Parts: sequence; C-alpha cells; structure tokens
Amino acid sequence: MTNKSKKLIEVKLKRTSLQALTWVGLPLVAIGGLFKPIIGFLLLGCMIGSVGIAAFRGRAWCDWMCPRGSFFDIIIAPISRRKSIPSFFRYTGVRIFMLMLILTVIGVQFYLGWGDLNAMAMAFVRVLITTTIIGIFLGIIIHPRVWCHICPMGTLGNWISKGKKPLYIDKGCAGCELCAAACPMQLNPSEYKFEKVMGDNDCIKCGSCVAACPKRVLTFEQKKDDHGGTPISDCKSA
Ligand code: SF4
Ligand code: SF4
Repeated sequence: MTNKSKKLIEVKLKRTSLQALTWVGLPLVAIGGLFKPIIGFLLLGCMIGSVGIAAFRGRAWCDWMCPRGSFFDIIIAPISRRKSIPSFFRYTGVRIFMLMLILTVIGVQFYLGWGDLNAMAMAFVRVLITTTIIGIFLGIIIHPRVWCHICPMGTLGNWISKGKKPLYIDKGCAGCELCAAACPMQLNPSEYKFEKVMGDNDCIKCGSCVAACPKRVLTFEQKKDDHGGTPISDCKSA
C-alpha cells in the first residue's frame, strides 16, 4: 500500500469517526420531533451553524458536522448507485427555487402556528422529514450527496463561502483526476489548475483530494510565492 493510499484511508477513517457522532442528530430530530415537536428547534441550530461556519471556513459544516450530510455518507453511500450527479442539481435557478420553496413552506407554517411553540417546531420537523426522504431517494438512485447540491443551507453556505479557506493547486498537477475520484461532492480540483485556486464553493473542505493527490499539489495552506497571495475562489458560485 502506498503512502498516498494510507493517507486517504486515514482521512476517510477520521471523517467516518466524526460523522458517526453527528449522523444520529438526524433521526433524533426527524423521528424524535414527531413525539416531542419542540426538538424541531434544534434544526435552527444546524441552520445557524452551517451559515456561521461558512463565513469563516466555507462549507466545512457539510463535511461531518451536518447530521444529514453524515447520514448520507455513512448510511446511504454503501447502497448508492454512485452515478454522476446531473448538472441540473447545480443550476443556480434550481438552487434558488429550493431555497425560496423551503423558506416559504416554513414561513407559512410559522404564520399559521404563530405563538404555539409546538406548531412552529413541527414546521421544522415536517420540512426535515420531507427533504430527508427526497435526499435518501436521490442518494440511492444517483449519488449520496445529491441533496447537498440543492440544500438551502448549502446554497447559502456556497454564497457566503467565497474565498473562505480555499483549496490551492500548486504547479505540477498531472491531470490524473484522482482528486475528483476521491471527492464526496463530485468536484474536480484539477479543473482549476491554471487558476491555482479551487473555484467551486461547494467544496466541503474534507481534505480527501489532498490525501489522494499523488503529486502533493493540493493544499489548504497558501504559499504566497506560488499564488500571489490573492485567493480567486469566487470565480464560480451557486
Ligand atoms: S474538492 Fe477536495 S476538499 Fe473539497 S469537497 Fe472535494 S475532496 Fe473535499
Ligand atoms: S490528483 Fe493531483 S495530480 Fe492528479 S489531477 Fe488531481 S490535483 Fe492533479
């Protein structure tokens, strides 16, 4: 086994052990919320956490801190067909539609149940259950992380995370695309080798590509000599 293979396995094991701690938050809120609706407000914590972290570290929340993202990687990935994610799920219009739809659904339920904490919390529980069922379906027939491309919090994170903790691509990329093969979001850092900075804000900063690269050209540490000190990671948004 090569050092690179060992490194990749180490990164995977570390991610999986962290995700094993957080994925249980999904059934806790989705199922527990049916019996104790007030638990639904925990979803607010997830929303605030994902957006707050995006302001400093990009979509790092989606790596292992998000219970649903962890659930997709741990529970759905082994039974997923792992097809290529259709570009439809990356369209800005589709992502904006999903964001508006879910905010509207929650807003209407809040309006109808205003003042009744259980009714308001159930708005979160219903949305979580519905979107998780869709995510599981897409995860099985296409790819575990399809939902993460249209998740409203992921979309907000994408917009907020421009230039935050970018992935740098040093010179020497061989174009082997082992980085893309290792990426849980089906992104391809090598597409940005001429820009020298990963330009896709859906990067969840998992480090899998860094571990997989045989040329060691990927890093989250900026080298001013090579990159001129100016991240250009906002060349592609949602
Ligand atoms: S580009 Fe690299 S760090 Fe970003 S999500 Fe893909 S594998 Fe993880
Ligand atoms: S794994 Fe490394 S060398 Fe291969 S395409 Fe990706 S960045 Fe380039």
